[in-house]
Amino acid sequence: MGSNFTYRAVHGLPADGCNSPVTIDLKSDGHIHTRFCNHASGEMEDYVRAALAGNLESITFLEHLEADIRYAERTWLTDTDFDAFFQEGNRLRKKYQGALTINLGVEAGFNPQAVARLREMLARYPWDRVGISYHFFSDGKQHFNMVSRRPENMAGLAALGLDRVLSGYFAGLIQAVQEIDGQVLCHVDAVMRHYPHLSFNRSHWQQVERLLDLVAQKNMGLELNTSGFAIRGEPYPCQRIVAMAVRRNIRLIPGSDAHRPDQVGRYFDRLPEFLAPGNPAQ
Ligand SMILES: [Zn+2]
Ligand SMILES: [Zn+2]
Repeated sequence: MGSNFTYRAVHGLPADGCNSPVTIDLKSDGHIHTRFCNHASGEMEDYVRAALAGNLESITFLEHLEADIRYAERTWLTDTDFDAFFQEGNRLRKKYQGALTINLGVEAGFNPQAVARLREMLARYPWDRVGISYHFFSDGKQHFNMVSRRPENMAGLAALGLDRVLSGYFAGLIQAVQEIDGQVLCHVDAVMRHYPHLSFNRSHWQQVERLLDLVAQKNMGLELNTSGFAIRGEPYPCQRIVAMAVRRNIRLIPGSDAHRPDQVGRYFDRLPEFLAPGNPAQ
């Protein structure tokens, strides 16, 4: 496989904006975690070695940052963790210079109740990339993790009403893209991925349109999060959203969301087929 895969987008769409080839870089993994976040395993260097073994040319560590989340466990980094993350990341950059480009970034989890705090935390470090996500939904008293399959999260969100949570999720991302200076929007439709019967209604799709308009306006990229292949046979987001992004000339950035070193670059070999015109899934 070459370092770039060029595909002509996208089957079955109106012609506007769809006729120029779109390029994604399959030699670059844009979303990698480490043991620093408390729910991944492996040192940063283990991920670097895995990337080299997989013939990648660049990786971006995109570690979890959350602001003022009330949750039973901490699944994000503290300031002390981020200090160590930068120290080790900079050491690895030097050590592997010429062999692998290593970017040090952050996956900023949005919290509509803590925007100023999140901005202030983001301003403290020289990130190579800021990814925007939205993981934790609040009922006013506590937070529920929208990407978790744990019963307490699923029951809590179901009690709030899934349509309402989804609307709030997209509204939050729309606000996040406007108010946080990010470069990539992460795993857009991974939210509530463990509810197989959940579908977006018309108003959710309108929110997705608005969100992608803003992503394009801000010149942000859209992540193709390949962890989705393991769960539903396609990345996050789905074909329909990818097609909407391509129509807006939004750049697509592959990311494995690795939480173990052996997940670096996972399923990247499936992206060409996923993106190829004529894919029956489209
Ligand atoms: Zn994680
Ligand atoms: Zn995430």
